[in-house]
This record gives sequence, C-alpha cells and structure tokens, in this order.
Amino acid sequence: MTLLRNAAVVRPNEVIADGWVLTSGDRIVAFGSSADEVPGSGEVADSTSETFDLGGAYLVPGFVDMHVHGGGGASFTTGDPQEALRAIEFHRSHGTTTNIASGVTAAISDLEKQVSELAGLVEDGQLAGLHLEGPFLSAVRCGAHDPALLRAPELPVLDQLVAAGRGTIRMVTLAPELPGGLDAVKWLADHGIIAAVGHTDAAAPDARSALNRGASVATHLFNAMRGLQHRDPTAANALLSDTEAILELVNDGFHVDPSLISLVFKMVGAGRVALITDAVSAAGMPDGPYRLGPLDIEVADGVARLTDSDALAGSTMTMDVAFRRAVQVIGLPIEQASLAASLTPARAIGVDDRVGSIEVGKIADLVVLDPELRVSAVMSRGAWVGDAKLPKPVNVS
Ligand SMILES: [Zn+2]
Repeated sequence: MTLLRNAAVVRPNEVIADGWVLTSGDRIVAFGSSADEVPGSGEVADSTSETFDLGGAYLVPGFVDMHVHGGGGASFTTGDPQEALRAIEFHRSHGTTTNIASGVTAAISDLEKQVSELAGLVEDGQLAGLHLEGPFLSAVRCGAHDPALLRAPELPVLDQLVAAGRGTIRMVTLAPELPGGLDAVKWLADHGIIAAVGHTDAAAPDARSALNRGASVATHLFNAMRGLQHRDPTAANALLSDTEAILELVNDGFHVDPSLISLVFKMVGAGRVALITDAVSAAGMPDGPYRLGPLDIEVADGVARLTDSDALAGSTMTMDVAFRRAVQVIGLPIEQASLAASLTPARAIGVDDRVGSIEVGKIADLVVLDPELRVSAVMSRGAWVGDAKLPKPVNVS
C-alpha cells in the first residue's frame, strides 16, 4: 500500500485541504481529510509499505487526453508501436495517464496498416483506443490534412477500417454534411464508436442532424469549422447549444482566444468541456521542421503550422499546460479545470468507470502539482513514473 498525505486532494466538486489518498496495487482504496483518521495506526500501518508527505501539494487525477497525435519527437501517425510508446511515455511524464491515439488523413490502405499495428497497444492497455481524424473531412475545413486524400464516408470503407483495428477504433471525426455523412454517424453510433463532428463546413441543421443520429463529441470546437454566428447558425452554434455533446477545446492560447474558452465554460460547464492537446510529435521538442502524417510542418515559437500555409497543425502542448492555463489564464476553480482535464474526457470515451477522478476503486492514476501547478510527480496504476521527481518517502511513526 502507498499513503499520500498532506495533499490538497482535488475531487470533482471539492478540494480536500490537508487530505490523503491510500492506494493498494493499481487502485485507490481510500481517501479522506485530516479530520478523518489518517491511516497509520493498527492494521493499516502494518500493510502500508510506504508513506509520502506531499507537503501541501495538489493531488489531481491523471489527465485524460482524447485527442493527441504524438509528442516527445514521436508520432502515432506512423503506426509504429515502439514510436507510439515513446509518445505515450512523453505525455505520461506530463501527467497524461490515459490517452487515445489520433491519426490524420492518409490513404485507406495506410490507415488500415496503422490501426492494425496500433491495435495491440490498445489490447495491452497502453492506449484507451484509436481515433481516426480523417479522411472523411471537409475540403474547405481540412486544416493540416492532405486535401488530395480526403473522401466522403462510405460504410464499407468504415467497416474495413474498423475491422483492421480489431475493435480498437474508439472515435471517428467526420464532416456530417458530406454525402453519406449522416449515415456514417448513425453506423458509428450503432457500433459503439464515437462519431465526432469536426473539420466541417456544416451549418447548424446538418450538425444538429448528426447529434440526433448519435454524434456525441465536437472535435476541437471552433477550429476547422465556422465560428459562432448570431443570424446564420453554424455547427459551432449547434454543438454549443446541444445539452449533451462533449466539446473538445485546445487551450494553448493560439487555437482559441481565452475569452471564448472562458465563455464556453460559462455556457456549458466543465462537465461538457474536454481539454485536449491535439499535440503533434514536436511537443516537448525544439522549434524546427516536423512531419504530421504525410505533410511537412514547421514549428516556430512553439506554434506548429503547415510548411506551405498558415494553417495551424496541432499543438506542441501537454495536458499539464492545458490544465494550468485553465486555472491561471481562464480563471477556473481548480476542481473545474480538473473535471475538464480528466473526468469529462474519460466520460466522453467511456472509461470514467475506471479513471478520471479520485474515487475508491478507481485506478491509482495521480498527478502531484506544486503551488504553481507544475508537475512534480506522476503515479500511473499505483506506480511512480520515472524516478527523478519522486517525493521523498517519510517514515510512519
Ligand atoms: Zn488533431
């Protein structure tokens, strides 16, 4: 057992000052405040192998990133499992303990190969699933996707890709206004796969039709779609005014102005906002040239753009930055930022029964944050990640 004590424990609707969390194996088995009895005497002490005094640091649930293409110089879009593991480890060191691997538009045969090769990492529990971002996207809202490889969704092609992924494809981003788009949304929903509305030029009616047919996520709201309009309602209007759809936001300061992010939280609450990184391999790396799937990108001052246009090409952010900005720039209470960085995305991708919050019985995925909300240590499945930043164990007296 491991006892983490003297922490500000961040839960969905509260922060337990001077709290503690007890883990056993890969699970959280108890938590409480100092007013409750801290384990450390009698029976519990005998089986408590280690105690860590966190010195008042914040303890938040591990971050859940439902939209990420790579990081630390490694990319999911090559389909190489060893490279994918490096990206997972890079993000884990920044507090992301659960993530989906996102692809980008490519030829169907290449995507089949990628998903079949990455499926093993989902089956091994390293990834929470795979996300196809493309090729069923709008040519006029394609962002950093190769326009030559875009296509309208066809059910046999979807079926082929899902089969190649052996059931590990968890989410597909598509533009519902494309021919066959709404049928594809229904087919995905019927197969238990998240249909995400994104890279779309749809007006509100097509987006609403997609929501009515089972679409449940907005892929990076506002980016690669029409903006909010007061007289000519857009997909963004429809997604925001829906009562259930989870809205992804890239909170890096470049993709969406903080004033609008703040407004979205005020409108729909943190229970419907999923902070994502949309990170590319350049996250955590120096400026310079990188690849995003089949396209060349260039990173300057930490901003990734296509080499031959101004289009943003994902971010170089990590989830700890998205979380910290949510508190320090957007001004959210820490428990609301934590919801949007962990429990809401966990709910969106259907893993909230296991991860996303500090609850008895959930997996011991935890992040220790200093008063400036910088990561000081990460616990994944009950084990500290890396060894450089471990909090000092203290003797139980
Ligand atoms: Zn993306």
